[in-house]
Amino acid sequence: MADIYDFVIIGSGPSGGVLAYNLCKAGARVLMLEAGKEFTPNTFPSNEMSANASLMWSGGMDTTTDAGLLFLRGKVLGGGSIINQCLLDRFDDNALDDWRARTGVDFFSTDAMARHYDEVESHLSLHTMERCDWNRNAELYVEGFEKCGMEWAPLRRGQSDCGSGNDCIVCLGGCPRESKQSSLVTFIKKARQHGLTVETQFNVSQIIHGTNLVTVYGQQNGTARQVHGRRCIVAGGALGSTQMLLKSGFKSKLPALGNNFNCHPQFMNIALFDEIVDSHKGAFQSVKSQDARFRQQGFKLENVFAGPIAVSLLKPGFGIDHQRFMQKYRNMACIEVAVRDATAGTIDIDKTGRLKIKKTMADADWQRANAGLQVVETLFNTLGAREVMKSPIKIGLHLMGGCTLGKDGQHSVVNERFQVHDHPNLFIADSSIFPSAPGINPALSIMALAHKASEHILAECGVSSSTQVQKESPVVEVQL
Ligand SMILES: Cc1cc2nc3c(=O)[nH]c(=O)nc-3n(C[C@H](O)[C@H](O)[C@H](O)COP(=O)(O)OP(=O)(O)OC[C@H]3O[C@@H](n4cnc5c(N)ncnc54)[C@H](O)[C@@H]3O)c2cc1C
Repeated sequence: MADIYDFVIIGSGPSGGVLAYNLCKAGARVLMLEAGKEFTPNTFPSNEMSANASLMWSGGMDTTTDAGLLFLRGKVLGGGSIINQCLLDRFDDNALDDWRARTGVDFFSTDAMARHYDEVESHLSLHTMERCDWNRNAELYVEGFEKCGMEWAPLRRGQSDCGSGNDCIVCLGGCPRESKQSSLVTFIKKARQHGLTVETQFNVSQIIHGTNLVTVYGQQNGTARQVHGRRCIVAGGALGSTQMLLKSGFKSKLPALGNNFNCHPQFMNIALFDEIVDSHKGAFQSVKSQDARFRQQGFKLENVFAGPIAVSLLKPGFGIDHQRFMQKYRNMACIEVAVRDATAGTIDIDKTGRLKIKKTMADADWQRANAGLQVVETLFNTLGAREVMKSPIKIGLHLMGGCTLGKDGQHSVVNERFQVHDHPNLFIADSSIFPSAPGINPALSIMALAHKASEHILAECGVSSSTQVQKESPVVEVQL
């Protein structure tokens, strides 16, 4: 005998949180499954090393098969929103027009998406970074941009009250002040008030789609578990959702599954200055490039920094040279180049179900990256840097695609109602549905699309988002 939920949502990041809230608010009985643990402000890891180990898949060391790209992704209740910077931008015409052209789907336009952005933003505390938020790294960035005649703009973050402390280095390891607007402190919290059930440390291995029922299999703390929903929504992120569908054998029916993987390869470039910069004090990120030429060339620049462990990994070599470099931690400034990648990769699994990710940077991508790296070098030289280290490592933080949205079952995985082609009870509405790389921070758009998806999903059940789900009975018990 087992409970059947109205919806089982797998994953708890920006997508899972919004879906859970909207479905619970409409009166549905919802179960959220998450492979990671739940942390509270008091239990978030207190240092960089344990944050990587306890909040990320593979301890933050997922790579492509040739180890050319390193991927970071959250494995924790709240998903990527627990470990990200929560920079929240809407997509522009350039990104959405590209998606509409690729998919033929009309709602990819700034006008059609505006209502969904408005709705999710109304639940978030948003702060446009002000001059008083800048640390010296941001000041140098702006100084360089102005000297070189390039346009910059303030970043917008999801944060409520970061206080006056200058220890924001912990943002990337969970926010102990509950200021950063992760899905845990926003949508999941509200969904719980509407009855959401959450099960953590539940690693989903298989999804079986049936006419009236979807069964989800997995392991929870070493114990085999199965749960049931009338409908299931997969929100495990680009790698997670694609891996779950591949492990469940959907590839034979969905030939495009695993294709079209993008990741905005990022290069963190460090300059050493004679002065103390203290990039680790105050907000890590507060300004970005706003130069139309850069958008056209396919890259953007943001001021950024990282903890000492991450920075030490960027420096090639070891021994005395490496030690001398790290001793200059307080003299480092950093600018990141993020590339709008043009060459999609693929996500596959091996016989044991482990991820096999293939993605290389082709000439077009290197052209974009090199254009950005050249601008960074010019900026640092203009500012009088003693030494500039261009990042030898490419990092993928924005992972997208694998279950692309589109109209055609040969070239896409979900339709414009966010339903997996020919699987009416299975939906996906996370970063895995992205048709291409937008070149813009993705999290807000993931939430806006999840909001749109929740309306379609409720409509499939005959419910408009303003009315309540008519439950057949509060809990349906079935013999399985
Ligand atoms: C360091 C860093 C900084 C970033 N900064 C920004 C930023 O400032 N702005 C921005 O827009 N984006 C940023 N991003 C990217 C952003 O966080 C992601 O794009 C976003 O979190 C993706 O949302 P999602 O809901 O699709 O998936 P995720 O947030 O990845 O959530 C998926 C969840 O599903 C769970 N899951 C996966 N597989 C399974 C399984 N088999 N069983 C059970 N659960 C599973 C995962 O554990 C995870 O919690 C950053 C990312 C990183 C790593």
